[in-house]
Amino acid sequence: MLKDIYASVIHPRELVAMLKVKLSSKEQNRHHEPLSKLALQLSDKAFCYASLNKVSRSFALVIQQLPDKLKDPVCLFYLILRALDTLEDDMKFDTEEKLPLLRNFYQYIGDEKWYMKDVGDTHDYRMLLTHYPKIARVFQTLDPAYQDVISDITKKMGNGMADFSVKKVCTLEEYDQYCHYVAGLVGMGLSDLFAVSGYENDALREELRISNSMGLFLQKTNIIRDYHEDLFLGRSFWPAEIWTQYASHFDRFANAPESPDSLACLNHLVLDTLRHIPDCINYMRKLTNKQVFRFCAIPQVMAMATLAEVYNNPKVFKGIVKIRKGLASKLMLYTNDMNAVIKSFKRFMSIMIEKTNPNDPHFTQLQYQFNQIFQLLDSNSAVITPEFKIHKHYENTLMAELK
Ligand code: CA
Repeated sequence: MLKDIYASVIHPRELVAMLKVKLSSKEQNRHHEPLSKLALQLSDKAFCYASLNKVSRSFALVIQQLPDKLKDPVCLFYLILRALDTLEDDMKFDTEEKLPLLRNFYQYIGDEKWYMKDVGDTHDYRMLLTHYPKIARVFQTLDPAYQDVISDITKKMGNGMADFSVKKVCTLEEYDQYCHYVAGLVGMGLSDLFAVSGYENDALREELRISNSMGLFLQKTNIIRDYHEDLFLGRSFWPAEIWTQYASHFDRFANAPESPDSLACLNHLVLDTLRHIPDCINYMRKLTNKQVFRFCAIPQVMAMATLAEVYNNPKVFKGIVKIRKGLASKLMLYTNDMNAVIKSFKRFMSIMIEKTNPNDPHFTQLQYQFNQIFQLLDSNSAVITPEFKIHKHYENTLMAELK
């Protein structure tokens, strides 16, 4: 915490935001005991939310933005996909065992007799599968229309993961395909859940491309940011079609973080990620419910902040690059409408433009992308509602919701 305070000391508004989020995040679902213990104490539903808090603090925070009716389906959607991902990531299975597990997992999502012991890289992931019956029982209580969406996406994702567990991400096309399976499908499933809930228009379900892009933008940003961590874990998601243009071995970048080749490779991946921004802007413009909007927009502005941070930054090759906690808190509190999103995107794009090296081999393409995005952002701001002002009353409501 002290480190975070120092990092934000020249940004006083971030300090205030950080304190507010800190105060509001003492929410009921946060437990300090391990999940193995909580599983014996908590109701099925309370266990689901406690697990969500353990496996993803940030997702647990944004889910609080949603209307009540959507919280359970989205929480279950996340936990079930996380359980599937735990199967995918566990390296002790051989292919013969793993493929049918991934392909058939969707058949067990509502099965309270199904569980698996000792699978998963961390205690929390292992507990998700050990106590899976708790998740299955809450799943059964969901409206069948929500169940169908979750089941359909889990089936597609499991099959995609199985396909990729026997091949590597090499070409850009495979990179897009893999990201579609593990993240784009989440975007599509969320659009379905929003439509089923009635909070968003049915037409959102037809917006496959832009729903997919919402997931791809987040996923690709994380893949770029996680270079060092993934290298350490002996895996990589950077497409060979790109990185082999700059090095003969994937770990070479870690040995030469400042070299023009390393940075050119990094920026090439950032350029590829920028491609998805127009779709994301168009998606967010289509949302009509304020709470759904916040739920979708907060991760997008966070990803944009992260992309600006990693861009042309040799630290990516040396460790974990994160945005300041104070900045994250500010984005979480004030991303309330399209104007706020546009303001944040413009700010982070400007940071990127300032960092652009004229000697970068993709200098022209990068500039072109920046221009395209700026134009789109400007054309949007002409048609949307007047600038959002934070009224005391509204801020209090928001804080109450965050609790
Ligand atoms: Ca995975």
